[in-house]
Amino acid sequence: MISIAKPFIGEEEKAAVLEVLGSGQLAQGKRVREFEERFAAWVGARYAVAVSSGTTALHVALLAHDIGPGDEVITTPFSFIASANCILYAGATPRFADIDPLYYTIDPASIEQQITRRTRAIIPVHLFGQPAAMTAIAEIAAKHGLAIIEDACQAHGATLNGQPLGTWGTACYSFYPTKNMTTGEGGMITTNDPALAERMRVLREHGMRVRYVHETLGYNFRMTDLQAAIGLVQLTRVDGWNAQRQRNAAQLTARLAGAPGVATPQVRPGATHVFHQYTVTVADRERTIASLTERGIGYGIYYPIPIHQQQVYRERGYTDVLPVAEAASAKVLSLPVHPALTESELDQVADAVVAAACEPVLA
Ligand SMILES: *Cc1c(COP(=O)(O)O)cnc(C)c1O
Repeated sequence: MISIAKPFIGEEEKAAVLEVLGSGQLAQGKRVREFEERFAAWVGARYAVAVSSGTTALHVALLAHDIGPGDEVITTPFSFIASANCILYAGATPRFADIDPLYYTIDPASIEQQITRRTRAIIPVHLFGQPAAMTAIAEIAAKHGLAIIEDACQAHGATLNGQPLGTWGTACYSFYPTKNMTTGEGGMITTNDPALAERMRVLREHGMRVRYVHETLGYNFRMTDLQAAIGLVQLTRVDGWNAQRQRNAAQLTARLAGAPGVATPQVRPGATHVFHQYTVTVADRERTIASLTERGIGYGIYYPIPIHQQQVYRERGYTDVLPVAEAASAKVLSLPVHPALTESELDQVADAVVAAACEPVLA
């Protein structure tokens, strides 16, 4: 069985967790502080604030930007649902822009069409490890005075034109087990703005700066030292894993080149893509899935229903028609690309796709 994702926990992670267990300090403490410092330095941002998940990272980021009822935030419908739900949590209104058909990230021209007097922020998602069109998005944000909140939950370590993702605005990361690095559950927010970083620290801790003095409505969105201990070790491994993901992607692309009806992932010019997912389109998705399943190979469809068509949005009256996102949901197929795959396993994955693509269609 070749799985679509395979988190790696080594002896060092285990030892680091045992050390925390033995220390008696289990909740947020010095390991969290150390993880924040190292993560900020690794990203190239001035501050990092650790939280309990990528979802709470997005929620806190919006609150720290003072986004709430009456405000609109533009995001992509082709993502994990947290990219939009965080806007609802903040009491603001999500507006959906369509995506680019080549890279599946939010389309800057469509963002401009969604801007109103109420728009406060844009949440671009660096989907599958591919940077969103940040140069154009940064220009739009500057022109209209909008905040940028990067959803970098799938893009640890990616860059665009030499600039790391996570430094274009406020940026949110997830450490869920399937991501490029993990802490079990966990999240991180990066920013260069000291005031925002301070607000985020207060919000994750019950609105408290001084013990039991609650200056605002906050939450318990803390990370534990157990998670941070794992994260500190994973941070020493993630560059190597990203490089392996890139090599794996190159091998799949070489092997799939020329297979009829198969479109391999495109990398945006100037980008380093960290291949959280390796996502293709094929002429016949059902037949390709059957071929993969027959050979014991896992796959994923990210995402089968675009966010604006999910029940939670339908119920809220969303009737948007976003043709590129809707077509992508009907076509995409993600193949195993994780760093634990061997060359022979990668060949098996590609061969299964090629076999389905080359099978004659029975009339
Ligand atoms: C994983 C993910 C999230 C949410 O992260 P959690 O840690 O699972 O809460 C948000 N956005 C995107 C694009 C993700 O892939």
